[in-house]
Amino acid sequence: MKVIIVGGGIGGLATAVAFHRRGRQVEVLERAAAFTEVGAGLTIQPNGLRALDAVGLGERLRAGGLAEPPAGIRGRRGDWLVRNDAEDLKRRFGAWVTVHRAALVDLLRAAVPPEALRPGIDVRHVHPDGTVHHSEGTSTADLVVGADGVHSVTRRSLWPDHPGPRYVGYTTWRFLAPPQPVEGSAETWGSGERFGYVRMPDGRVYCYAMANAPAGSRIGLDELRGRFAGWHDPIPALLGSAREEAVLQHDTYELPALPAYVRGNVAVLGDAAHAMTPNLGQGACQALEDAVTLARAVDTLGVRPGLAAYDSARRPRTQRIARRSRQAGAAAHWTSTPLTTLRDAVLPLLPYALFDRSLTPAYTWTI
Ligand SMILES: Cc1cc2nc3c(=O)[nH]c(=O)nc-3n(C[C@H](O)[C@H](O)[C@H](O)COP(=O)(O)OP(=O)(O)OC[C@H]3O[C@@H](n4cnc5c(N)ncnc54)[C@H](O)[C@@H]3O)c2cc1C
Repeated sequence: MKVIIVGGGIGGLATAVAFHRRGRQVEVLERAAAFTEVGAGLTIQPNGLRALDAVGLGERLRAGGLAEPPAGIRGRRGDWLVRNDAEDLKRRFGAWVTVHRAALVDLLRAAVPPEALRPGIDVRHVHPDGTVHHSEGTSTADLVVGADGVHSVTRRSLWPDHPGPRYVGYTTWRFLAPPQPVEGSAETWGSGERFGYVRMPDGRVYCYAMANAPAGSRIGLDELRGRFAGWHDPIPALLGSAREEAVLQHDTYELPALPAYVRGNVAVLGDAAHAMTPNLGQGACQALEDAVTLARAVDTLGVRPGLAAYDSARRPRTQRIARRSRQAGAAAHWTSTPLTTLRDAVLPLLPYALFDRSLTPAYTWTI
């Protein structure tokens, strides 16, 4: 059986590793000139680590350094609106890891035979029978996996009437700040904007900020420093230590639910299937779950029954997590003062079980 994978990001490479370990011939077609990731940090939560365990790579990532689970949500003066019990989360669900994105991509890429990696190939159209048209010609396979991200050509080829990704109304900045003492990880909510940070194992601090803005707005580091100037420590210091060229800004998109993740001999996975807001930090974790579930289903059941099993295992779960992710961040982007005042007064009074119920179902996954 030959498997062609369109896109060599985290989802595509994980798929290649999972099929290769099961003795299948794989080929990864990647548009970029090299298999690598720009971007800053990435948190892999317990479910994502379990998916990596299924392809023998979880321990390698854990060995690079464990991270603290999210400590909770703070108000701009530093008061806690929601406080997680990090030790309890680790005890119940397992480890969290924060890595540089490129480190995860390198780990996955090294587990795929080099001859299976074909950079510099731009896929133009995918046919349900397993034919792939691309910049170098045409290829065919028993199974094609579209792991080509939020603006997926594979998805457009199979569901041309689907409306495609939707801008959610806020833009995101990411950067790695130089090593400095910060505790754990937390997110702080203001009015239509928020700031989060996570300590990396090497002492650097992965930071992100989000703010309501029209799609396509470009806002530089000086303006960011101004926006968050009055916020609690260490936010101004983190922004103060950032370098302009290290700050990445991307608009935030999510994908309205697809009617299926498979058609003919083709499946979509990762952001191509269910791009979600980053609020729960689950996008890459879900792509890893997709990859190992798909490989196991096709390996044990054959292509068509395996694809059907993949669709029914993955679509309800990932679409539910995408919905939860959207809801989880919505109140951070309120701008009305009465509403944000009410939010900040009520959140600390709510029973923790309420947050636990929305956060933790993602963590319990096993293959
Ligand atoms: C700000 C932010 C923070 C996040 N934080 C986290 C986090 O902490 N934890 C987490 O789990 N997730 C997080 N996510 C989500 C995560 O980044 C994505 O869900 C994940 O990277 C998706 O991987 P993917 O392989 O599906 O898609 P992508 O990473 O987009 O990869 C797609 C690949 O396909 C290639 N490609 C595209 N089109 C073509 C084509 N036509 N032909 C050939 N190749 C093509 C691209 O070049 C790319 O290499 C975050 C997202 C954002 C925006």
